[in-house]
Amino acid sequence: MLSVKEAENIIFNLAKPLNNQQDIETVDLFTATGRILASPVTSKLDFPHWDNSAMDGYAVIYQDVKQASEEKPAVLKLVEDIPAGYQPQSNIQSGQAARIFTGAVMPKGADTVVMQENTRREANQVFILAAPKPQEFVRYRGAYYQAGTELLPAGIKLNPPEIAILAASQCTKLNVYRRPRVAILSTGNELVTPDEKLQVGQIVDSNQYALAALVKQSGGEPLMLGIIKDEPEALKQAISQAISKADLVLSSGGVSVGDYDYVEQILASLEGEIKVRAVAMQPGKPLTVATFPISNSPIYFGLPGNPVSALVSYLRFVQPVIKKLSGIVEGWKPTFIKAQIRQNLSSNGKRETYIWGKLNLVDGVYQFSVAGGNKSSGNLIDLAQTNAFAVLEVGKLSVNVGEEIWVLQV
Ligand code: AMP
Ligand code: MG
Repeated sequence: MLSVKEAENIIFNLAKPLNNQQDIETVDLFTATGRILASPVTSKLDFPHWDNSAMDGYAVIYQDVKQASEEKPAVLKLVEDIPAGYQPQSNIQSGQAARIFTGAVMPKGADTVVMQENTRREANQVFILAAPKPQEFVRYRGAYYQAGTELLPAGIKLNPPEIAILAASQCTKLNVYRRPRVAILSTGNELVTPDEKLQVGQIVDSNQYALAALVKQSGGEPLMLGIIKDEPEALKQAISQAISKADLVLSSGGVSVGDYDYVEQILASLEGEIKVRAVAMQPGKPLTVATFPISNSPIYFGLPGNPVSALVSYLRFVQPVIKKLSGIVEGWKPTFIKAQIRQNLSSNGKRETYIWGKLNLVDGVYQFSVAGGNKSSGNLIDLAQTNAFAVLEVGKLSVNVGEEIWVLQV
């Protein structure tokens, strides 16, 4: 059986980012948040757009005021008032100054701004009471960004700061990667949808919903293919349909060793190359990963049927794959954080063990609290508000309160 690390290597290497020419769409700024840039962005604007003042004060010529002090102020004649948004008319000559406000355009001739606090005003004269530094409080055109150079690189996620940058730079149409398409199907004769009346022995297909929610959260587009019976023909048809239209296929159930577990057999009949059969982790041991001998083959993930196991396998392996496919260059890998544990943890030590819980930052220290209730991999109910797993490596039988342990943040 593969270790988690070995399985991770195989799976992450299978994942190839979408194509930055074909797999793109154009979005506007309002819908761009969370999307991944497919082409670098350049702006036609310098930033700042004009030489402007960083202070309320007076625009002056440095040479005129470099000796100024409280005892020997430089006295300048005011020739113009320049509020923000106004185009200055004057050309400042030696002995002159302009009243200027934060963000307002510098007048020609002036090279320095003296802050208001270091001045005294009398009628149309200003007394400069302290020498500024040369070019002080002037924000020069193009000091932060020069028109035509790269503003944002491809492969980054557009978060609120990037949206602000793009708005300020008047870049309102953006090439982003399309969302990876993820087909989701649930296998099992016992399954019904959440709105069907439950007969004895039936189980509600929660995995379909959980996986769709996760796929959306990971930046993918879920294609819900519904519940498929444990019948080879029905499964074959559903899986081949899924393969033909998705970048990833997620099925849950049917990958264990039971009599009705047909997934691997169907994958083989579709010429699937099985890359992973099982992983030495707990929960989540049954995991089938396959690709197909076609161009742009989707990656097939046969996830365990148990709701908790399905979610663990998804978060450990599928989420990073969707993020990598989505074109993001950095930050697609799982995030592990060292945290102090608040309860004793134990494992049989045979497989890497994932324990659900909640990660909190308390006084600057990460703390991990185990989810309450029954730890059965069928018990979803106590997962509410969890956001992490504590990870006990193989051979680790116990960890005591207060010890630090790696925690997978999800
Ligand atoms: P399997 O791997 O198909 O044997 O399923 C293992 C367990 O998970 C069984 O108890 C199933 O009833 C349950 N299960 C399978 N698929 C789902 C699903 N889509 N939603 C909720 N529970 C499921
Ligand atoms: Mg089943």
